[in-house]
Amino acid sequence: MEGSPIVNVSRPEVQFAVDTVRAAAHLARQVQAELVEPALTKDDRSPVTVADFAVQALVGRLLDAAFPHDALVGEEDSKALRAPEAAGTLAEVSGFVGRAVAGATAERVCAWIDRGNAEPTDRFWTLDPIDGTKGFLRGDQYAVALALVIDGRVDVGVLGCPNLADGYRPDVGGPGSLIVAVRGEGTWAGSAADGAELRRIRVSGVSDPAQVRLLRSFEAGHTNTGRMGELVRKMGVEAEPVRMDSQAKYGVLASGHGDLLVRLLSSKQPDYREKIWDQAAGSIVVEEAGGRITDLSGAPLDFSAGRTLARNRGVLASNGLLHDIALEALSSVL
Ligand code: AMP
Ligand code: MG
Repeated sequence: MEGSPIVNVSRPEVQFAVDTVRAAAHLARQVQAELVEPALTKDDRSPVTVADFAVQALVGRLLDAAFPHDALVGEEDSKALRAPEAAGTLAEVSGFVGRAVAGATAERVCAWIDRGNAEPTDRFWTLDPIDGTKGFLRGDQYAVALALVIDGRVDVGVLGCPNLADGYRPDVGGPGSLIVAVRGEGTWAGSAADGAELRRIRVSGVSDPAQVRLLRSFEAGHTNTGRMGELVRKMGVEAEPVRMDSQAKYGVLASGHGDLLVRLLSSKQPDYREKIWDQAAGSIVVEEAGGRITDLSGAPLDFSAGRTLARNRGVLASNGLLHDIALEALSSVL
């Protein structure tokens, strides 16, 4: 993997993904700064709703202009927003979108959001407008995640992490990070500020299980904490875990500042299937930085099964060196 040290945006898809995620992350940051604190006391769901909808509308609008024939598979749709009681929220969403693009009427904003209702085809984009909702509300880590999937394989992935510096270091209120991966070329990270250079990143060289820095969800309900404890004991992990919301964890892994990420199935939701927008961008970021990502049985993630990873169970991502050790430990724990 000897790609260019600086990201190559000569492919229009790569340029589009980078520019779009940068603009979307900027918009998300504005919503967080202006709405989260005051709105939390009234209704702790409203700020995240505004950000989710506004970011998806912006991405739908930009995709219309750049690749009008490409499908978008996004987390949100406008149904709830079109209800009469949501008129205030829709006005707020339209106001934020209007700062980024012209012509953001309520009707158009709903149509741009609904770009995301497409079914996966042989070529589509998938978007998580605000990944890590709980982190967004806490003023902590969250990510805008956009990926291009071709023939069931992620081809380009971009993460925008407004509260992360250098692709790995928590830095609330800083310029944020962009992490970009292109199939066969590599993964790059850098400041999300306009014009900043993105530089090649690589996974760590940690192979001793005792040294493993485990990347974990902040939310206990997204995993199985009991089984996670068993896994840690089985592998002999002694280092402190890193707890963080969202696909920002994949940026940390790809930058070599974490070594292993495990998404176990919560005992409360044993039938949970990962959503494609929660894994697409993050998975290529890890792979192109030299890491490995599979499900908990070692099977490759299959992005050709619809809106979820229906053929996979959970996720295991690593620097590559630790993958087989972790799979073996998992097989005895699960
Ligand atoms: P994280 O911050 O790593 O916990 O991941 C956040 C993502 O977890 C959200 O985007 C949700 O789509 C997803 N999620 C929600 N419920 C579950 C669950 N029961 N198990 C695994 N992931 C979940
Ligand atoms: Mg998500």
